[in-house]
Amino acid sequence: MTCPYCGKPMDEGVIQSRDGLYWTAQARPVAALPLGGRERIDLTCGQTGGLFSGHKAAAFRCRECKKIVLQYRD
Ligand SMILES: [Zn+2]
Repeated sequence: MTCPYCGKPMDEGVIQSRDGLYWTAQARPVAALPLGGRERIDLTCGQTGGLFSGHKAAAFRCRECKKIVLQYRD
């Protein structure tokens, strides 16, 4: 993937978390995140890495801009 900010090649990798990854419009108590809400997006797209890898989302990093870009689905 090419960085949308500077146009240089990005490094492919993953973002991992033990209990899921979510984008929300506003910060919420962490305990309430899995309960839903209209403005909640599961960034893992259902991807789990198994018992010892937790939840993961493919992501691209730009070393130049210090940006991380990832794709999500509705
Ligand atoms: Zn960049």
